[in-house]
Amino acid sequence: MTDRSGWLPLPAPGATPVRTLTVAGSDSGGGAGIEADLRTFTLLGVHGCVALTAVTVQNSLGVTGVQEVDPDVVAAQIDTVVGDIGVSGVKTGMLASAPIVAAVADAFARNGIGAGGDIGLVIDPVCASMHGDPLLHPEALRTLIERLFPMATLVTPNLDEVRLITGIEVDDDDSQRAAVRALLDLGPRWALVKGGHLRGSERSPDLLSDGRQFLRLDAPRIPTAHDHGAGDTLAAAAAAALAHGLAVPDAAALAKDWITRCVAAAYPLGAGHGPVNPLWRLRPPNPAPAPA
Ligand code: PLP
Repeated sequence: MTDRSGWLPLPAPGATPVRTLTVAGSDSGGGAGIEADLRTFTLLGVHGCVALTAVTVQNSLGVTGVQEVDPDVVAAQIDTVVGDIGVSGVKTGMLASAPIVAAVADAFARNGIGAGGDIGLVIDPVCASMHGDPLLHPEALRTLIERLFPMATLVTPNLDEVRLITGIEVDDDDSQRAAVRALLDLGPRWALVKGGHLRGSERSPDLLSDGRQFLRLDAPRIPTAHDHGAGDTLAAAAAAALAHGLAVPDAAALAKDWITRCVAAAYPLGAGHGPVNPLWRLRPPNPAPAPA
């Protein structure tokens, strides 16, 4: 299903593209959240729809305010988009509160999203920003695990989230494997435990498993201060690939390749952390065709 460059096939002009949905918060600095998701969806050639969960007041230095969206409005966005436009891949990011998590889980169940159905669901269990600013009320994590993990095609926690969810500190191959198993015990079909933060490693060896297969997704570790939005970008790429019908191992491999290139192209922004950069794909040999 991938094109000759290894990426997802781009839609022909005028043809309705494959559609995806992100259920996530907005980052006013444009580096993470729905802004990052929509960039990756667009640059991978899928049409991205949005169910906004929260507005964050945020720049490169951190989050200074959060306004949550009414849970009924979050659910209504999902119902409205899926009922008309239709999607074949979904991802969740910042969900903010337990009532929003519950409303999202109910809406997913109503719309046949995840839980082994045709619409792939990537759960990125976002708890905090890279600066440590909370993006999920602590008591909502239990709801997220109980309601959304059993519906997930794939979960993609970072290592801080792995520790919060499983109690396991991942710092070597054995603990990474134990963490994958502990995550799978919570109900997702597949779990991906990132290796990007493994101490002392020059590689970034992620581990993907469904409990039977244990697959290594390896890439060079790219030292950078500018990796804001990395988790969102990886999960969005995986959702786009699932939306195209790729099997989870192929979708995760594509997402790993995508995020590695986006980190390599990351740029400074403001006085703090800059974002990963999917715009590298706009360079030749993929110029936009000019209208005659
Ligand atoms: N802000 C929003 C709205 C997000 O959804 C996320 C991550 O999902 C972040 C910030 C955090 O991104 P990072 O961990 O790169 O700081």
